[in-house]
Amino acid sequence: MCELHQRWKTLWNRIDHAVAQCGRPKGSVRLLAVSKFQSTDAIRALYELGQRDFGENYVQEALQKQAKLCDLKDLNWHFIGPVQRNKTLAIATHFDWVHSVDRFLIAQRLSEQRPEKLTPLQICLQVNVDAEDSKSGCKPDEVQSLVEAIMPLPAISLRGFMSIPAPGHIQTFSVLSSLIQQWPSMDTLSMGMSDDLEDAIRAGSTWVRVGTALFGKRAH
Ligand SMILES: *Cc1c(COP(=O)(O)O)cnc(C)c1O
Repeated sequence: MCELHQRWKTLWNRIDHAVAQCGRPKGSVRLLAVSKFQSTDAIRALYELGQRDFGENYVQEALQKQAKLCDLKDLNWHFIGPVQRNKTLAIATHFDWVHSVDRFLIAQRLSEQRPEKLTPLQICLQVNVDAEDSKSGCKPDEVQSLVEAIMPLPAISLRGFMSIPAPGHIQTFSVLSSLIQQWPSMDTLSMGMSDDLEDAIRAGSTWVRVGTALFGKRAH
């Protein structure tokens, strides 16, 4: 068995085990394969194993990969990096999900620029729960007003929240899962990466975003 296949199996064992341990239904956690700096060959190999959702952090890199993989019709592309305002048109046109919306202006531009022939862009609001200067995300006390402003935008669908906790801050996950209770229309918590996905799943994650544990160490 090739290394990628082995890591894929090990990773799904971890996910399934965590899901079962906390009594959540099978299939309630989905895997987003974070393919930044990974080759299109590696993405194809994962596609062969059944993976359909891929996460990218950089627009230029993602568009190049999408062009090379355009024969795979049922791939879903997720943007998970900081969104610059001059990149919103490319993101609105070439992605299915954006996990990293953190201000109204970005949401508004994504909605305005989403091509009419496409279904609404699925988005998560990134929340900087631990207030780290180095990370993007809105402040927790901005969430309420941002949700209210973003929800009515016509060409996007606000599905939930995303967070990248400070190292070891697993309580961040439960902050998000209590926050989302306020809005019954939202169903998505994008949280948990290679090192902390079990804690995130226990707290209610619905997308785990995994790079290293799946593809191996990144070149960068
Ligand atoms: C790179 C990245 C990941 C994946 O991290 P790993 O530790 O390699 O699993 C997840 N989320 C975001 C936002 C990332 O930038």
